[in-house]
Amino acid sequence: MAGPQPVVLSGPSGAGKSTLLKRLLQDHEDIFGFSVSHTTRKPRPREVNGKDYHFVTREEMEKAIKAGEFLEYAEFSGNMYGTSKAAVHSVQAKNQICILDIDMQGVKNIKKSDLNPIYITVLPPSVAVLEKRLRDRKTETEESIQKRLNAAIKDMEISKEPGLFDSIIINDVLEEAYSNLMRVLQGEILKAEQCKNSSSPKDFS
Ligand code: ADP
Ligand code: 5GP
Repeated sequence: MAGPQPVVLSGPSGAGKSTLLKRLLQDHEDIFGFSVSHTTRKPRPREVNGKDYHFVTREEMEKAIKAGEFLEYAEFSGNMYGTSKAAVHSVQAKNQICILDIDMQGVKNIKKSDLNPIYITVLPPSVAVLEKRLRDRKTETEESIQKRLNAAIKDMEISKEPGLFDSIIINDVLEEAYSNLMRVLQGEILKAEQCKNSSSPKDFS
């Protein structure tokens, strides 16, 4: 696929991916674009359809998968999630760095695709801290918290696999985690800025 190299941000639910991403997208709104996934889970308060996710029924999602519309998809915590080809293309059409927030199954499936992104995982300092964050967020039922913690324990182990991720960011103190993320992406941000400057109209007056 054409354009700047995409970025995959993965890591256990509750690790802080959305928090870091929101800030990154705010600070560099013309450089990065979010790949809006589809999901069959219910929207949380303040989540906007078409911005945070495309909220769909399982039937709609299965139909679109059968039609070959997805780059990858996975079942997570009792719901389906997937990256449509259109979601990535619409960001790439704007010449922005496309960011995908996906789970470990998504990472493994994207590795089989031709997307060729930078792979970053955001990890919590411990499972206990992760559990506290998930509980304090007040978005999950007890059953959902348990499913997410079980997935987290497995995924944190898999994350250690050499070569799976290009960078591992421990999100303990938010400011430090954000600085580390910026450091990892600095080269790509510079390249994207240079690209924009060289393609913008010159003022010869
Ligand atoms: P994810 O997108 O990975 O599921 P979130 O970004 O929703 O995780 O973060 C989970 C919760 O933890 C949110 O309530 C968020 O405000 C909080 N949080 C994120 N990073 C930190 C941090 N470094 N310290 C304390 N709380 C945090
Ligand atoms: P949440 O329900 O907390 O928004 O997301 C749950 C998990 O699904 C997170 O780990 C998130 O990264 C993952 N996820 C979100 N969108 C996608 C997607 O399009 N594909 C895959 N494979 N995982 C996704």
